[in-house]
Amino acid sequence: MSHAPNLFFESVNQNFAKAAAYTGLPSGILDQIRAVNTVLRLRFPVRIGDDVEVIEAYRAQHSHHRMPTKGGIRYAMTVDQEEVMALAALMTYKCALVDVPFGGAKGGIKINPKKYSVDQLERITRRYTYELINHGMIGPGKDVPAPDYGTSSREMAWILDTYLSMNRGELDGIACVTGKPVTMNGIRGRDEATGRGVYYGVREMVSIEEDMKKLGLTVGIEDKRIVVQGLGNVGYHTARICQTEGNAKIIGIAEYEGSIFNPDGFDIEALAAHRKEHGTIMTFPGAQPLSNRMAALELDCDILIPAALENQITMENAPNIKAKIIAEAANGPITAEASAYLAEKGVWILPDMYINAGGVTVSYFEWLKNLSHVRFGRMTKRFEQNAYDNIVSAIEKYTNSKVSDRDRAILTKGPDEIDLVRSGLEETMITAYHAIRDQWMADPRIEDLRTAAFVVAIKKVGSDYAQLGIFP
Ligand code: GLU
Repeated sequence: MSHAPNLFFESVNQNFAKAAAYTGLPSGILDQIRAVNTVLRLRFPVRIGDDVEVIEAYRAQHSHHRMPTKGGIRYAMTVDQEEVMALAALMTYKCALVDVPFGGAKGGIKINPKKYSVDQLERITRRYTYELINHGMIGPGKDVPAPDYGTSSREMAWILDTYLSMNRGELDGIACVTGKPVTMNGIRGRDEATGRGVYYGVREMVSIEEDMKKLGLTVGIEDKRIVVQGLGNVGYHTARICQTEGNAKIIGIAEYEGSIFNPDGFDIEALAAHRKEHGTIMTFPGAQPLSNRMAALELDCDILIPAALENQITMENAPNIKAKIIAEAANGPITAEASAYLAEKGVWILPDMYINAGGVTVSYFEWLKNLSHVRFGRMTKRFEQNAYDNIVSAIEKYTNSKVSDRDRAILTKGPDEIDLVRSGLEETMITAYHAIRDQWMADPRIEDLRTAAFVVAIKKVGSDYAQLGIFP
């Protein structure tokens, strides 16, 4: 993957500046909103083999307008201070957009996790957590990490265990990190949440007839030709759900080892299983290999979904992109310059801070679950089931008819945790899309959805500063 750290931070700042002008907020407030409040820069030793390795790591808290701050921790060689700062800023806007009441943060460790054993990764993770504790940069009301690129529920479990061992008896301690395994106070549906959020957002966008007319596309996600870059957590679940629930065709996949094409669409679960077994997507039955790993991005398709890392679409490949819609499942996959160019060409870009907000949304649900110390649905499921059952029985009685057992089971089902998580996520993604779209339609100066999303987010964060009495 190309690596241009300053470019990413620059892109976020450029996008912010463009939108800031449309918010009507005083420039001092805008400066405060943009500024990264706290950055922790760490160098610590970890024993690797017979020697010690100096590990480079960060945690940035972009905004404390709401607490705790929130954001993932990534393990990648691209990590540096500016990358983490840019990602922390995006978290602030992301949370504001989807009404998740947190400030933005992000952490990173500059390692290639594939190069370390599980034991070594555990040592690195625990030491990093100690550092966060020592610097007051983690806690249920302070700063709550989560998975990101290169990390998963496994790392979150280590973080939780380290935190709890140092904070025995803290009543809400389990809320110090989200994305935990379900068996360790996690929440059902967190793993798939970002991908599922991408699906809901894309589905909502393509359901609006007048917009699809403008783009020359049919209404609805069914049979849309989609290309996905990255089959990691986000890309995999996005592709899988678009295929199985949306009946879209995933015609192209780009991965580290190369990219593949199939005009009839891939079976994503089978493709992921194949990759797990053979270590590559290139040998999957029915897959036409393309010339290189970036080639799939340039395929003729309706929707392109970059779900890997930042700076994947630049002025080098943007002129060759044929998709009408790009959904930024990754953070910062398109440079500011390429984004403006594509928008000018009429491509609609669903910006990262909206379209990949499903992860943090369900993290918020997990945090709420942890603070309430009870699983969603536990108190209400049976009650609702009985109430629905009484209604069905009353209908039967007064209409002198009989509802079949199958229909009764469907009509009277009370919600499980996973049902509530998914419906909360669906509601969140749909509401946020319309807030952004309405902003775009309402102001002719706003050139694209990204700028509209920034305007909505900046205004929301800005309204928190109204309490300072600077503006009404
Ligand atoms: N790492 C994810 C993101 O970039 C999730 C963050 C979270 O759940 O706190 O949005």
